[in-house]
Amino acid sequence: MADFSSLGLSDWLVKQCTQLGINKPTPVQENCMPPILEGRDCMGCAKTGSGKTAAFVLPVVQKLSEDPYGIFCLVLTPTRELAYQIAEQFRVLGKPLGLKECIIVGGMDMVSQAMALSNQPHVVVATPGRLADHIRSSNTFSLRKIQFLILDEADRLLEQGCTDFTKDLETILGVVPAKRQTLLFSATLTDTLHDLKNIAMNKPFFWESKSETRTVEELDQRYILTPEKVKDAYLVHLIQTFTDEHDDWSIIVFTNTCKSCQVLTMMMREFNFPTICLHSMMKQKQRFANLAKFKASVFKLLIATDVAARGLDIPSVQVVINHNTPGLPKNYIHRVGRTARAGRNGVAITLVTQYDIHLVQSIEAQNHAKLKEYPVVEKEVLKILTQVNVTRRQCEIKLEATDFDEKKEINKRKQLILEGKDPDLEAKRKAELEKIRSHKKKFKQRIEESIQKQKRGQLKKKLMKRKQIKKRATKVTA
Ligand code: AMP
Repeated sequence: MADFSSLGLSDWLVKQCTQLGINKPTPVQENCMPPILEGRDCMGCAKTGSGKTAAFVLPVVQKLSEDPYGIFCLVLTPTRELAYQIAEQFRVLGKPLGLKECIIVGGMDMVSQAMALSNQPHVVVATPGRLADHIRSSNTFSLRKIQFLILDEADRLLEQGCTDFTKDLETILGVVPAKRQTLLFSATLTDTLHDLKNIAMNKPFFWESKSETRTVEELDQRYILTPEKVKDAYLVHLIQTFTDEHDDWSIIVFTNTCKSCQVLTMMMREFNFPTICLHSMMKQKQRFANLAKFKASVFKLLIATDVAARGLDIPSVQVVINHNTPGLPKNYIHRVGRTARAGRNGVAITLVTQYDIHLVQSIEAQNHAKLKEYPVVEKEVLKILTQVNVTRRQCEIKLEATDFDEKKEINKRKQLILEGKDPDLEAKRKAELEKIRSHKKKFKQRIEESIQKQKRGQLKKKLMKRKQIKKRATKVTA
């Protein structure tokens, strides 16, 4: 196996790695670093937790040391928390250089960010929305001379999910030089490969980890089949069991909406589990504070939406529980990748209802790995069922008494205004679309009913005909 020196890293940087316990390159580092150091564009697709961040941070730091200037490198990433995590690796690995990094994400003070940008940092780590805002509103910094453009979790940046980055990416790509090195990394690159090739135009070096499965071998992947109404009781039972047996384990529970995240957090607290949450409706400062407390193991139970699904590197996480089965296999891959990182073991348990079985099948097909059933003593779960469901209902009522839904509505309106749309007009358009859709649905239903009726009529006629023929035949023989 190669070592960092033979990959082309300078001695001082190898020493810096050693001090951080990074002694031998992981496969993604071994394969992607030499072409990056040669000046090639690179697309790296490797399992989550396999050292992707260092695979691009190390070559950038090395190149920066040869010709230091600002702004030298721009890293884009989909979530604010990831931006902080990446910036930290730049800060630590580039310390001997005096590397100056700057983080540009939403939810934080824009004026101090503008000042930091005008101070010519070597590396800017940003989420696309806020950086695009700065580009549109200020001319005190320039990205015209960057040497590296890096898209971390590149597929998420390009897909049009609940946060669509397309417009902001267009703004950013409009101000970076065409002559640059472009590096694209993710655990799930292949779905958006075509779009990505348009960004990394210089015949990129493409590397994908060879293994059959898209999750690491150290991850024990399980499911529990449960009726919807018993799901929360299973969750409480699992948390209770894990905390009783392993008091040093940290657990992340993923759920699908901000509201569910809030309710589950309240519910877990009612059961005396010290719990914190992470979702996009929280203030950014609170998000960072909660994540810091979870990272430091002050709290060992985190309930989160998919904002925490990608890239977060928290070594103490031993268990991931999916309270809902992810609708997209790649979301599953990212969620469960929060455990079993950097060679450690971990377990991922997905709560599956009868309506989610097809989702599990597509997760297994994409992941090339079967989920095994997680053994649970059902009697123990049924014992707490009523108490759990009553507690959940109480928490829901408590939350309804706050202005949580109202806040969500206000956030949506704010977002639309920021996108230059009129919220009232949008609501009208949405209602009209809904009306058209329901008309279409009813029309389709009516057509289907009339086809069925026609078919039934034809069948009846056929049967009658057959009966008559039979009758005639019996008469003739008689
Ligand atoms: P990442 O996939 O970039 O999120 O990295 C996962 C974890 O692996 C981080 O905590 C890194 O510090 C760690 N790591 C990165 N490269 C290596 C390496 N070569 N050897 C050991 N640990 C590493």
